Amino acid sequence: MHLPFQIFSPEEEIIDPIFEEKEIRLFIKRDDKIHPFISGNKWRKLKYQLEYAKSKDISHLVTFGGAWSNHLLACAAASATFGFKAIAYVRGEEVRNPVLDMCRIFGLQLIFVDRESYRNKEKIFSENHDSKTSLFIDEGGKSELGLLGCADIIKELNQHYDHIFVASGTGTTVAGLQLGIEQNNFHSQVHSIPVLKGADSLLQDFSQWNIDPQKIYMHLDYHFSGYAKTKPELIEFIKNFVSSTGIMIEPTYTGKLMYGVYDLIQKGYFKSKSKILVIHTGGITGLLGHLDLFSK
Ligand SMILES: *Cc1c(COP(=O)(O)O)cnc(C)c1O
Repeated sequence: MHLPFQIFSPEEEIIDPIFEEKEIRLFIKRDDKIHPFISGNKWRKLKYQLEYAKSKDISHLVTFGGAWSNHLLACAAASATFGFKAIAYVRGEEVRNPVLDMCRIFGLQLIFVDRESYRNKEKIFSENHDSKTSLFIDEGGKSELGLLGCADIIKELNQHYDHIFVASGTGTTVAGLQLGIEQNNFHSQVHSIPVLKGADSLLQDFSQWNIDPQKIYMHLDYHFSGYAKTKPELIEFIKNFVSSTGIMIEPTYTGKLMYGVYDLIQKGYFKSKSKILVIHTGGITGLLGHLDLFSK
């Protein structure tokens, strides 16, 4: 069964004098254009999970996330769009912010849980929900079906790229891209820019999904001290990038990704004639939590 949802995610070339000097070309796949709220890779990860739920007549989605989670907002908007009821367990004490407020407008029921209980998501689910009528969707949409949804990105590509880059949190998206490369017999090198510290734990997940961790290049130096942490040079870079391309990025994921790719280009990391693709994974609403950093 297919959900009635058409996606638009063009590949656009980014022009910058530095690319000419280094004789490379940079393209961006605009998954941020898929939907304003079911954004980017969160749609990719949800797609087959929602189709599964429909096929099993499951009426409720039960999911988990932090207070600024792009995944929660995507689940909220998707559940409203496709006729599910949705409940989210939010990590930490009760707070209000624009992302959670938008989740509520879409009808997502929010339940705040302390960090200790939050750790055991399976327990929360099994004690409060019936798996016949409710689907457990992990934090960030992480799952094997999520992986398959991300692999579909590769099928859509209009040309061959030597390198494909994406920002990583759980690593599901980058593992899915590698799977897509293998399914389609492509030869692109897949790269991950983890946005949190200590991304080594991602490697375990890759093996659990039968993705050889050796095949994915991890660039561990662009997390800016950790998840949702920033530095003035990152903010400066984002302002320059957005004002010179018209493509909005934010500091938590896509800002770090683009910063890393530009830094590698400047350092001469890529052979001349290389074609590089970055995946814009969306998540622009995350900017709402960082606007004060841009006020100067
Ligand atoms: C969630 C998210 C990611 C991380 O995706 P993973 O599959 O967890 O690695 C990257 N970019 C954006 C914008 C996100 O919201």
